[in-house]
Amino acid sequence: MSFTLTIDTPAWRQHLASVRDAVSGLVPVAKGNGYGFGLPRLSHEAAELGASTLAVGISTEVSVVRTAGWTGDVVVLTPWTPSDSLDLSDPKLIVTIGRISDLSALASTAPHARVIVEVRTSMQRHGVEASELSQVPAALGDLHFEGWTIHLPMIGDSLAQARRLAQAALAVRQAPLWLSHLSEADYRTLASEVGVETHLRMGTKLWLGAPSSRTVTATVLDVHPVAKGQRIGYWQRRMPRAGSVVVVSGGTANGIAMEAPTAAANSRQRLIAAATGSMEALGLALSPYEIEGKKRFFVEPPHMQSSLIFVPGATTVGVGDHVPVEARLTTVSFDAVEG
Ligand SMILES: *Cc1c(COP(=O)(O)O)cnc(C)c1O
Repeated sequence: MSFTLTIDTPAWRQHLASVRDAVSGLVPVAKGNGYGFGLPRLSHEAAELGASTLAVGISTEVSVVRTAGWTGDVVVLTPWTPSDSLDLSDPKLIVTIGRISDLSALASTAPHARVIVEVRTSMQRHGVEASELSQVPAALGDLHFEGWTIHLPMIGDSLAQARRLAQAALAVRQAPLWLSHLSEADYRTLASEVGVETHLRMGTKLWLGAPSSRTVTATVLDVHPVAKGQRIGYWQRRMPRAGSVVVVSGGTANGIAMEAPTAAANSRQRLIAAATGSMEALGLALSPYEIEGKKRFFVEPPHMQSSLIFVPGATTVGVGDHVPVEARLTTVSFDAVEG
């Protein structure tokens, strides 16, 4: 009776294994909502894949994957700062550093910690500027240097940028290279050129590849006929036509948001919509719920754990049915993950 992700586990695992086989040095990334699957499930799948290192996004996620049973190395992708609460005594923890000053601070706080140093790319997010790379060896002190990390933007000539920055970093010190957001082909090219161990950190393409291996559904909790003009819902809105209100699981608590009515984006479209009596013209918003093969409109903004959907006329769906939902897996939170 819930907003559910159902996984065809054999098909999903086949895809995960194919990525692992194609990418030597693959480091699975498990962060945030665990790409919809949850961090515990991803740590388990990473172990099944035989990965030796798992990447998490932020410090607090380390204990989540540890509690879930992950015993291998964990790299935290967000750079460490002195105010960070990380347990630096964990010998299987690899810390990312993005500034020379933080590198010096880490060397004095936890002199034997394991560290990777991020090289700033055109993303301009984190990382040491190419011009400052020469300061890294001295600032490292006794820290255990695990390599350089390069996080590329999604567009542009990533291979050229990765090559240039990798050369600059490796000229300062030979060490493994950890890359993010390089295509598999570009990664293989770079790996064949650099002469050091390489890693590719991957989340979305790994976990969310093979989309046919999963389905997202909501349970129909209730169905009622409504008359044209009848007021319904928290906001007692008048219904534009006679139809059915379908109460489905999933609401704001699950990350189900009200979509902007995209079909009537400009005023001309709005006029047409008004003339044809369409739902957008009446101010209703399209929902991600699909009923009888079609996305349907919300009666009103979603509630905490359920939503009211309007279906014109009679509907064939009934209580207990499962209806498809188009969900962005990185932003939703499921009531249940099955399979
Ligand atoms: C989140 C993150 C990744 C994984 O990103 P995806 O697009 O999900 O593959 C890789 N590297 C870094 C540094 C990240 O922060």
